Amino acid sequence: MLQKFERYPLTFGPTPIEKLARLSAHLGGSIELYAKREDCNSGLAFGGNKLRKLEYIIPDAIAAGADTLVTIGGVQSNHTRQVAAVAAKIGMKCRLVQESWVPFQDAVYDRVGNILMSRVMGAEVELVDAGFDIGIRESWENALEDVKDRGGVPYPIPAGASVHKFGGLGFVGFAEELRAQEAELGFRFDFIVVCTVTGSTHAGMVVGFAKDGRARKVIGIDASGTPDQTHAQVLDIAQRTAELVKLGKSIVADDIVLVRDYAYPVYGVPSEETNEAIRLCARLEGMMTDPVYEGKSMQGMIDLVRKEYFPAGSKVLYAHLGGVPAINAYSYIYRNG
Ligand SMILES: *Cc1c(COP(=O)(O)O)cnc(C)c1O
Repeated sequence: MLQKFERYPLTFGPTPIEKLARLSAHLGGSIELYAKREDCNSGLAFGGNKLRKLEYIIPDAIAAGADTLVTIGGVQSNHTRQVAAVAAKIGMKCRLVQESWVPFQDAVYDRVGNILMSRVMGAEVELVDAGFDIGIRESWENALEDVKDRGGVPYPIPAGASVHKFGGLGFVGFAEELRAQEAELGFRFDFIVVCTVTGSTHAGMVVGFAKDGRARKVIGIDASGTPDQTHAQVLDIAQRTAELVKLGKSIVADDIVLVRDYAYPVYGVPSEETNEAIRLCARLEGMMTDPVYEGKSMQGMIDLVRKEYFPAGSKVLYAHLGGVPAINAYSYIYRNG
C-alpha cells in the first residue's frame, strides 16, 4: 500500500513482538497478551511512535527546501523530543513550542525527561502558557512566522505529526509489517490495543488493518480526555489516508473504536488506577509505561481483560508506543515505587 511513497529511514526496522506471559497468567490466563515494541524502534533519543510517521514526512520537508522543523506539544511531549532528534540527525534546526497542556506540578517538570533531551539536542524550546488542544494553534503559527522573519525556511509539523497529509502512512506500515510477522508466527492477532490522542497512530492502523477486515479490531484507548474531538480527528485522518493509499474501501465512523473510560482525571495526569497498571506491568514484565499515554492504555487493556471484553482464547497485541522519558517529570508520585 505504501510503495509509491518516499520513506526516510529513522527506525531500526520491524519492531519486536514479545509475549507478556506473566501478565497474561496474572489476569487468569484465558487471554494471551503480547506487546509490539514501538518504544524500542530507534536509536534516536529513545524512539517512539512519532518516528514511523516522520519517516514519511521528512522526504517532503527535504523536498520543500526547509532548514528548520517547527512543531508543538505539551511541556513533556514525546513528539517534540522525537522531532528534535530527527532534526539533529538530518542536519536541520528545530523550533519547539511547548504549551502548558498538563495541570501537573512537579518541581522539575520542565527540566527533565523529554524537554531535557530536546534542549541537549539543540532545539530552540519556547514555553507557552496555553492549555490542551489537539488542533492547530496560534502559538505554532507565530513560531513559523518567527523562523521566516529570521531568514529561515520552516517546515511545519502539526501536534503529534497527525493532521499532516502524510501523517497516517507510518501506521499503515505498522499493519503491513504485522501481517508479515503474523505469517512467520503462524497465527493472527484478534485485537490490537493502542493509545489514542492526536489520532494518526490509530487512524493509520485502521486503514492498514481494514485491508484484511480488522479495522474494528483496533481498540483505541483514549488518553486525550476530549474523546469526541479525538474520534472525529481519527476518522478524518483515516478517511484521507485511505484515499491516499487507494484502499478501495470507505472508512466510516463505526470503524473507529475508541474506548473513553481511562483518560480520567484529565490529559497528562494519571489516576490511581493508571499508576497501579504501570506498577503491575513493570513488576510482572519489566516493561515500563508512562503516566500520560501508555499507562492509560495498559490500564485499559488490563481492565478490558478483567471485564471479559475479549473472548476467551483471544490473542491481544498491545502496541507499546514509547513515552517512558516523561515519567521522570512525575517523580514525586513514584518516590516509593
Ligand atoms: C503521541 C503518543 C501517543 C498517541 O499517539 P497519537 O498518534 O497522537 O494518537 C501514544 N503514546 C505515546 C507514548 C505517544 O508519544
